[in-house]
Amino acid sequence: HIKRQYSFLPGMFSFQIMAMCTMIRNIGIMAHIDAGKTTTTERMLYYSGYIRALGDVDDGDTVTDFMAQERERGITIQSAAVTFDWKSHRINLIDTPGHVDFTLEVERALRVLDGAVAVFDASAGVEAQTLTVWRQAEKHHVPCICFLNKMDNLGFSIQSIRDKLKANPVLLQTPIGSGKNFTGVVDLITNQKLIWKQKSVGDDGRAYEVKPLNELDDAAVLQEAKGARSALIEQVADLDDEFAELLLNDFIENLDAVPSIKLQAAVRRVTLARKGVPVLLGSSLKNKGVQPLLDAITAYLPAPNERHHDLVQWYKDDLCALAFKVLHDKQRGPLVFLRIYSGTLKAQTAVHNINRNSIERMSRLLVPFADQHVEIPSMPAGNIALTVGLKQTVTGDTIVLSKASAAAAARRAQNKADTGKKRGEHASVILSGVEVPDPVFFCTIEPPTMAKQADLENALNCLQREDPSLKVRVDPDSGQTVLCGMGELHIEIIHDRIRREYGIETHLGPLQVAYRETIVQHVSTTDTLDRTIGEKRHVVTVELSVRPAADAGGSCQVEFEEQTVELSPEMKEAVENGVHSSYLQGPLLGYPLQDVSTLIQSVHVESGTSLAMVSACVSRCMLKALKLAGGQVLEPVMSLEVTVGEDYLGSVLGDLAQRRGTVRDIQSRHDNKVLLATVPLAEMMGYSTILRTLTSGNATFSLELDSYEAMNLQDQNTLLKRMSGLL
Ligand code: GDP
Repeated sequence: HIKRQYSFLPGMFSFQIMAMCTMIRNIGIMAHIDAGKTTTTERMLYYSGYIRALGDVDDGDTVTDFMAQERERGITIQSAAVTFDWKSHRINLIDTPGHVDFTLEVERALRVLDGAVAVFDASAGVEAQTLTVWRQAEKHHVPCICFLNKMDNLGFSIQSIRDKLKANPVLLQTPIGSGKNFTGVVDLITNQKLIWKQKSVGDDGRAYEVKPLNELDDAAVLQEAKGARSALIEQVADLDDEFAELLLNDFIENLDAVPSIKLQAAVRRVTLARKGVPVLLGSSLKNKGVQPLLDAITAYLPAPNERHHDLVQWYKDDLCALAFKVLHDKQRGPLVFLRIYSGTLKAQTAVHNINRNSIERMSRLLVPFADQHVEIPSMPAGNIALTVGLKQTVTGDTIVLSKASAAAAARRAQNKADTGKKRGEHASVILSGVEVPDPVFFCTIEPPTMAKQADLENALNCLQREDPSLKVRVDPDSGQTVLCGMGELHIEIIHDRIRREYGIETHLGPLQVAYRETIVQHVSTTDTLDRTIGEKRHVVTVELSVRPAADAGGSCQVEFEEQTVELSPEMKEAVENGVHSSYLQGPLLGYPLQDVSTLIQSVHVESGTSLAMVSACVSRCMLKALKLAGGQVLEPVMSLEVTVGEDYLGSVLGDLAQRRGTVRDIQSRHDNKVLLATVPLAEMMGYSTILRTLTSGNATFSLELDSYEAMNLQDQNTLLKRMSGLL
């Protein structure tokens, strides 16, 4: 809802000031489900004044989880962005999803942001999903800070961060009180205590007391803070040479006397260099510790100009932006979130989409404040903008000023590649998108009536633009529409959204696992096709061999033997088409093939034979060869991590044994056990419900594709029988 318009001057004014690049923080919050990401985000928006009342996640009433089913499920799926200001800084919070089915969205969000806050449940420590996200943050060199939330619960696990994340935690605060009596923290940088005195039940924690630590304070707090501050100073000196030098030269007699501003600057350098991760403490639900977290975001995490985003240099001052999220709004059509890396985005202008090779016209430009979108005329580099009017843009596309500016950037990149060390590298001017892995699950989807088919197609088109990990295809045999997704929850959510957002009640077929096939033997075969169509006779003879190629890394190849050199390029292409079409459907069950290499030994074609006939003959010959070569079904095997209360470990293990699971390791974490295993995906249908029942809710799990493995003969036969309807 656009409540404020362009003419709203105070908003405009504050926007202009905030637009200074060094004052911007593009930040993501990453967390395991239930660590408190939503609650923390909401408190941030509240303290910065962008929402007027505190909602409650448990009542399904928060701002960032704005999609209806997210409210119901209590998880955050969409990586949308929210803008707010904090002490003259502009913070763009890019929401990263906490569910394992959405790691792609996490990855995409990570490319857009400059820094991240990892929210942990202090009493639970580091959990599987956070670990996955953490590794992705590492991959993209994103500087991080940690927020240990739920300090009002007992338990506090800095060790877990050290051990599991292999990160170097830099503790900036020590707690005052523990459990229910957690009232605040000592800020070790300034040696001040921050106390949230809860005056009434409804106290929102906006006001808190800041006082220097003094001798009158609780001896235990004082003692702990003193030790922790010395440890902090030593740790930072170890990580930062400049700070170490300062200590040696000026403060060798009294390390404690080092000015807090110098210590803070050193912590910032350590954070930006990713040598250490500042750790802050709090309890979002109890309204404690969130304001210092906001201060830490502005103090330690980088501004856009302190980050090196790849290939933006080629655009100089021309516009270069990445579409990192597409949403569909009934009234306004597609809304595209853009991260602007260089240049300026202007409303009412045409831009060039490199990926689609098309020119699009942007009508309006909005700042996505939490409770309202504010329209603005232009937006400079470093910012996040919400655009209206881009109709073809898909999540992951690169948007630039014009085709000419893309060409100029490509020229600069090419020149650099030619003169520099990177010779031979293909110069790309498309911002790195996110590689979408092949989906592991699929199912058919049917509209309620044929009359709704067109509406369904439209809905699926829109959804695919928002979410490139959703694939839609039409089964060539049955003509049915097939949805392919990354997990059970993914497909369920798509189904839900079609109903809610597009008003179409669809029927989903049973969820099926995307198996693959390969072959076990090397065979050669030959085939001749001799067919007269009308007046024309087509004659072609092919000789080829297929072999298992485990070294192909999951792909399939086609090669030509030397005596086939005389084949024309068109003929070669026709042959290749024939081979590739037979790779799409294996001979056993019709799943795509992998790890197969085909060698074309000879092709004899009589004149007048059409290329289509050549492809057809090659396909038929391939089918014969693949059948002779013996099929083998490959199934997706997942790596599973279950965190479970000790008492329930036995039942989880017993259940896994029945799912053809292989236990790799069992680790201890506080009172919990962490079980690492590999399990075939086919055995994991409905696992979240089963696990909840088995453990009375005392477990969480994460699932990720590990590899495709050959099924043993017995399991394969069972599958074959089931698929052919015999079981
Ligand atoms: P998310 O899944 O990471 O977004 O986590 P939520 O913000 O939805 O919080 C998960 C649950 O933990 C909810 O029931 C919250 O009320 C609760 N919670 C969040 N922060 C705290 C906290 O600081 N202390 C306690 N005790 N519970 C919290």
